[in-house]
Amino acid sequence: MECLFCKIARKEIASDTVFENDKFVCFKDISPKAPVHLLIIPKKHVSSVYDLKEEDRSLVGEMILLAKKIALNQGISEKGYRLVFNVGKGAGQTVEHLHLHLMGGWKENFEI
Ligand code: AMP
Ligand code: ZN
Repeated sequence: MECLFCKIARKEIASDTVFENDKFVCFKDISPKAPVHLLIIPKKHVSSVYDLKEEDRSLVGEMILLAKKIALNQGISEKGYRLVFNVGKGAGQTVEHLHLHLMGGWKENFEI
């Protein structure tokens, strides 16, 4: 499949992987918007939150719990972190494979 993140999941394209198991891969964002900026993707191809089905309920639940664990392991949990799904082009989704942004590590409190 000609999908960038499927290729990363299959290791056809290199990534700076932080964590991997049978269902997910977590790797560093190539263009970080925070001191720690990771992407968590399911190995299964789902294009977007738009395309989530009832059967994906546990996949998404696991994805968020995994983000919580990785935030702890990365030492960014206590200070606080952001979890972001961009849904659709109008919201800035550029890669059509479901991904959860995990961002943190700011020295000061985050201000929008
Ligand atoms: P989004 O804008 O929500 O679709 O997020 C896609 C993210 O993927 C962006 O933050 C990009 O910087 C990141 N990205 C694109 N290509 C790669 C890559 N080859 N390795 C790591 N991150 C990537
Ligand atoms: Zn894909």
